[in-house]
Amino acid sequence: MGVARRQDRSYRLRLEIQSYMFDPDLYIHSRAREIDASGIRRVFDLAANLPDPINLSIGQPDFDVPDAVKQAAIQAIEQGQNRYTVTQGTQALREKVNQRIGRQLPDWADGLKPDGQLETLITSGVSGGLVLALLACVGPGDEVLIPDPYFVMYKHLVTLAGATAVPIDTYPDFQLTAQRIEPHITPRSKLLMFNSPSNPTGVVADEAICRELVELADKHKLLILSDEIYDEFCYEKSPGSGGPACPTPASYSDRMLLLRGFSKTWAMTGWRLGYAAGPAPIIEQMTKLQQYTFVCAPSMVQAAGVVALETDMSDFVAAYQLKRDRVVERLSEHYELTAPGGAFYAFPKVPEALALDATQFVEKAIDNNLLIIPGSVFSRQDTHFRLSYACDSQMLEKGLDILCQMAGG
Ligand code: PMP
Repeated sequence: MGVARRQDRSYRLRLEIQSYMFDPDLYIHSRAREIDASGIRRVFDLAANLPDPINLSIGQPDFDVPDAVKQAAIQAIEQGQNRYTVTQGTQALREKVNQRIGRQLPDWADGLKPDGQLETLITSGVSGGLVLALLACVGPGDEVLIPDPYFVMYKHLVTLAGATAVPIDTYPDFQLTAQRIEPHITPRSKLLMFNSPSNPTGVVADEAICRELVELADKHKLLILSDEIYDEFCYEKSPGSGGPACPTPASYSDRMLLLRGFSKTWAMTGWRLGYAAGPAPIIEQMTKLQQYTFVCAPSMVQAAGVVALETDMSDFVAAYQLKRDRVVERLSEHYELTAPGGAFYAFPKVPEALALDATQFVEKAIDNNLLIIPGSVFSRQDTHFRLSYACDSQMLEKGLDILCQMAGG
């Protein structure tokens, strides 16, 4: 047998063997493959080597769940509330949520109510609400307007729903204004995603902007999807106003789907609880989708949610306000920084004099034992970085020291 023929046979044999080998990669759909999580993974990989980092990258409160809320969950488990609840959430929790909405947004609640139109759905976190809302409302051919910078999930969830995310550049003040949105509106635009206070910038939209957005949504028949997970972390509110903790388009429009959560206000990130409220036809579709996906939010957590809604967290919010003040005070001298009015993030610009993009700047910060997140994780541009001040004051001060040194101050 000639050499060429022997090589040919062995090649065919290998091909045959390979065709019997299980290759899991072949089974992965581009829908999953095309989600690029490399930016944030890179930061966490670099950080994994730091024994005791100064961590200003965490998107969750540093305080613990209030005792009364913990006890309510323990009691619910012990009393046997361990089974599925109805898909839309327990009556007790939905009533509490409705009372809160009725108190904070009486016009919205009343405007929707006369024909029995306002509905609520208890979700598995705001993430659960986002998934359901997007699956219920958009698909191929639809465009979803999202702020840039955006919360990391928005872009990918819109893509998963088969729709197209259209980022609206909000630099340098990070306000999602009607003027910035309007040039991006096409006949395919269907949904406007709004997030105030914002992750990653901490910026809060004022009443005028909310009103402007509502007018724009009415003019172009857009549904506003308002992610208000940081609603209680709003530092400029008028005390005792009785209204929402933070300005919201829901004060002015029925064309609204509201998503709120428990993860941040009551530090329940691992408990997976949130709610969606809005026009009944949309909430009904979301409920149907929940029935065939998440089924229901965790039962004992729903019981604890009732107590959470009765638990005042204003002291914790006040403590974060002081930390926000400290961040602004110390960084403003060295960085271009839009003062954050809420949440627990700041989004400063890397000084141009350093001639670094944000990823390079973050790598340098990690060399200095400081963990922050580059803007490219949240944006098409890589000029800013996100820091979270949801940490203890000592750690925050150390982190701010390093940032001031890195800016050359
Ligand atoms: N929206 C925003 C803007 C967030 O920052 C987060 C959490 N980081 C979520 C939604 C998801 O929160 P949950 O834990 O309620 O799913």
